[in-house]
Amino acid sequence: MKKKKNSLFIPDVMFDSVHDISPSYLAERGIRVAVLDIDNTLVTYGMPEPTKEILAWIEALRAGGISVAVASNNSRERVERFNRTLSAFVTYRSRKPSPKSVYAACRHFGVTPAQTAVIGDQIFTDVLCARRAGAFAILVTPLPYKENFFFKCKRLMEKPFIRAYRRKNDSDNGS
Ligand SMILES: [Mg+2]
Repeated sequence: MKKKKNSLFIPDVMFDSVHDISPSYLAERGIRVAVLDIDNTLVTYGMPEPTKEILAWIEALRAGGISVAVASNNSRERVERFNRTLSAFVTYRSRKPSPKSVYAACRHFGVTPAQTAVIGDQIFTDVLCARRAGAFAILVTPLPYKENFFFKCKRLMEKPFIRAYRRKNDSDNGS
């Protein structure tokens, strides 16, 4: 079947929260490395460190055989402070949607892009990064935060792709 032109922007799967993503869900799809966005995915934008719930979720991934990388477009300072308690493989200033953070994680862990999942809250950075790299694209609902005008515009632009995902999913489930 011919791939739709906009499929670069449609996630493979959507979850309300990272806590709904289990290590077995990833492992069953052949995924060995989770490449995680920080801001509004793991914690609210500006929160300097992971919560204990996030630490527990990441430990559960690792215990389930999933290696963890953190890829953020944010600064080295922000990413390194966030990572102090995680000790994950990190890339900062990742320039997502560039796929380079996925490639770096693949080299580090010795896996292929098809064995990685990018987990993030934005279509035009996280999902597109996954698509370009050939990784599995997981979109989560952004954590609540005060949106500025720029973010509001981005969220509006994401809407058609989220609708397309829901349509696709409804037809997959209905058949
Ligand atoms: Mg984000």
